[in-house]
Amino acid sequence: MCGILAIAGKAQVAGRLVDGLKRLEYRGYDSAGIAVAWDEGIERRRAKGKIHNLQARLHEEPVEGFTGIAHTRWATHGAPNEINAHPHMADGVAVVHNGIIENYRELREGLEAKGRVFESETDTEVIAQLVAQYMADGMDEVAAFGEALSKFTGAFAIAAIFAGKPDLVIGARKGSPLVLGYGEGE
Ligand code: GLU
Repeated sequence: MCGILAIAGKAQVAGRLVDGLKRLEYRGYDSAGIAVAWDEGIERRRAKGKIHNLQARLHEEPVEGFTGIAHTRWATHGAPNEINAHPHMADGVAVVHNGIIENYRELREGLEAKGRVFESETDTEVIAQLVAQYMADGMDEVAAFGEALSKFTGAFAIAAIFAGKPDLVIGARKGSPLVLGYGEGE
């Protein structure tokens, strides 16, 4: 059972994301990762194993930015390794996901037929790829995410960030819990 977390804040977010993951650590996991959005793009760091491996990675290669997503993974589709660790990215879209996209295989085949290249074995990557495809078709972030959501079957909680949109986090849930909170002044 994994944990997902997103923060759109007013201070450096990487440390806050890792702190949040630690609070969810009791749920068990096999890998962990974060991604941070800034004006020019998205920076991602992932590591197999415990959160301290991710912290070591962040120590070597820090990420800066105020808005990010984080995940501890309990693998259901694809081996527990760094390639399959979340966040998953396609073009300028990064997502973390708790649960299972049951119809991911047919969605993936349709996207591959359009020339999209997947890098992981997960069901989750299809979320990022489908949102990216709708954006390539001309939709904005919110419309593309909404259109993608309407295609998924299964139970899930998802959070997404976008390159060049450091003020935007999109969250969605179906069956799985997701809690929204407001920080002071945030
Ligand atoms: N099904 C996704 C995966 O295998 C998410 C698993 C989870 O909830 O951690 O990557």
